Amino acid sequence: MAGSGKFFVGGNWKCNGTKDSLSKLVSDLNSAALESDVDIVVAPPFVYIDQVKNSLSDRIEIAAQNCWTGKGGAFTGEISVEQIKDLDCNWVVLGHSERRHIIGEDDQFIGKKAAYALNQNIGVIACIGELLEEREAGKTFDVCFQQLKAFADAVPSWDKIVIAYEPVWAIGTGKVATPEQAQEVHAAVRDWLSKNVSADVASKTRIIYGGSVNGGNCAELAKQEDIDGFLVGGASLKGPEFATIINSVS
Ligand code: PGA
Repeated sequence: MAGSGKFFVGGNWKCNGTKDSLSKLVSDLNSAALESDVDIVVAPPFVYIDQVKNSLSDRIEIAAQNCWTGKGGAFTGEISVEQIKDLDCNWVVLGHSERRHIIGEDDQFIGKKAAYALNQNIGVIACIGELLEEREAGKTFDVCFQQLKAFADAVPSWDKIVIAYEPVWAIGTGKVATPEQAQEVHAAVRDWLSKNVSADVASKTRIIYGGSVNGGNCAELAKQEDIDGFLVGGASLKGPEFATIINSVS
């Protein structure tokens, strides 16, 4: 752990769950013994945020999985930051690779959302990460730095940003980055922040890892100097396993 603040573990539930399955997941999380020294955030699908907020222990904060770029209005299918706040969400996940590569969101669009959310006092889990072919072509740092720069160019401040490094080839594939691979990129991201934003932001910002994190591999990853937490997809849908990941803080 190199960033300041607590170890940070997010559960990204993506487009999964039903009223019943999420009620079971919430009850498993409510009864789990969770380390006190960890910030925990879960991101349910929009339609279940209210249900989860009303039943989940206050120990766990809620994130939205996306938001609109500005004030609400005539934007069919979108959810505004004001609406997210109305549901007592404190965080939003932005730049996730599924939104970049499946939905087609680009750096500028994502940056705009991040700026708007931060201006409304909503924390941003800012995701970056390279595709397999980009890693194989030796472009991992270039891609991550370009995505970071788009955030840096847009955001008004860094106090409420957590960076999630999520190599796209590791997301939902069961092919986790090795602790060394993850550490190498996390250290490079911190160095980039130091050179391009400020030494203060570099030392304070939490950089979390995502991509096939599970109950078996989290402890080794958590030991790495620059890994300040996790963003967890599949394994966050299983209460006891997500609790193991939360408790892997080292
Ligand atoms: P995964 O997803 O843990 O299922 O690989 C991580 C993420 O997409 O945030």
